[in-house]
Amino acid sequence: MYLEAFPLELREYYRRLFGEEAEEIMASLRTPVEKYYIRVNTLKTSRQKLMSILRREGLKPKRSPYLKEGIYFERKGPNFDDDSEPGLPVVRATKFASESVYQGAMLYAPGVLQADKKIKPGDEVEIRDPRGLLVGVGIARMSAKEMVVSTRGLAVEVTLPRFKLPSLSELESFKEGLFYAQSLPSMVVAHLLEPSEEELIIDMTAAPGGKTSHIAQLMENRGEIIAIDKSRNRLKKMEGELERLGVKNVKLIHMDSRKLPELGIQADKILLDAPCTALGIRPKLWEGRTPRDIEATAHYQRHFINAAIKSLRKGGVLVYSTCTLSYEENEANVRYMLEKGLKLEDQSLFVGSHGIGMDNVQRFYPNRHLTQGFFIAKLRKV
Ligand code: SAM
Repeated sequence: MYLEAFPLELREYYRRLFGEEAEEIMASLRTPVEKYYIRVNTLKTSRQKLMSILRREGLKPKRSPYLKEGIYFERKGPNFDDDSEPGLPVVRATKFASESVYQGAMLYAPGVLQADKKIKPGDEVEIRDPRGLLVGVGIARMSAKEMVVSTRGLAVEVTLPRFKLPSLSELESFKEGLFYAQSLPSMVVAHLLEPSEEELIIDMTAAPGGKTSHIAQLMENRGEIIAIDKSRNRLKKMEGELERLGVKNVKLIHMDSRKLPELGIQADKILLDAPCTALGIRPKLWEGRTPRDIEATAHYQRHFINAAIKSLRKGGVLVYSTCTLSYEENEANVRYMLEKGLKLEDQSLFVGSHGIGMDNVQRFYPNRHLTQGFFIAKLRKV
């Protein structure tokens, strides 16, 4: 069943790139991460203190063996199979809402596409995605008509989701900014940058601020980070997140970072967490991207790479990362950087696997590392 979730050309692409492992990779991508990570905000608390607060809040946090600011929660499920047929009246949800329900969220009215006409509040219903996949079972809290037309409110209280990840955003500890939900590989990125307060640091594609706020945390809120993004909405969200986390050493700039050289800055360190095809993001109820999107995105990323190289001082460091699995957006773009005169650096924190035909880069595979699919390279301008 999971195979239908990937366009044929992409399946073939994965088989060419990953050989026999491709099937396992695709099956993992269909499910949420087995270990759901958060990052302790050490600007406000310690791991030990946060662990006990989370336990009091009813959760079962575990320490990351790799990072002292890492905590994870075990995923629960699957609670039923792909071919389960509860035979209940059906509520059909948007892809986005279905992905949330699939991981344990409630279903709100804006996420409802269609509902069996006979549904009334209190009825047990099944929730399916637009392609018919069962993502959860729950109790209707609105009538069929209400849930389709309302623009707000709880439509279905989900009692049995396919999987269950902890819901964290309602916790007091979240509101107080004691942690940030961030995948393990994303946390490795800021460590590899090894930021220090004397350095001029630029995050070229920063919103909503996960990696910027981690860098700020490693700098203990000292020095200055220039954080750029082209999306006004995402920058607004980032502003709120930095406020929640108590981050104070970030200057936000709204611009197209392909034009970074026009600012005339020579940075000591640059993070390019590039816009990508996001093939590594889990879970995927289905994937829409094809190898053609991979080609186009890899090409687009080279504009950012060129801008980064121009804006980096000699001897400066560029950390390049993506949340995707393709070769073109990862190792091939690193080869491009090597042709431009950058040199690969060793990575002091290595949790993933080596790259494809390239040792000094780090790849995270969803099936091997139980994380999002991810890629990190560290380079120096010599
Ligand atoms: N680094 C972020 C974090 O850890 O939270 C995630 C960044 S996300 C992978 C890529 C970002 O690139 C998006 O926020 C997007 O708005 C931004 N972006 C895309 N094109 C851009 C451009 N031309 N200039 C600046 N930012 C851009």
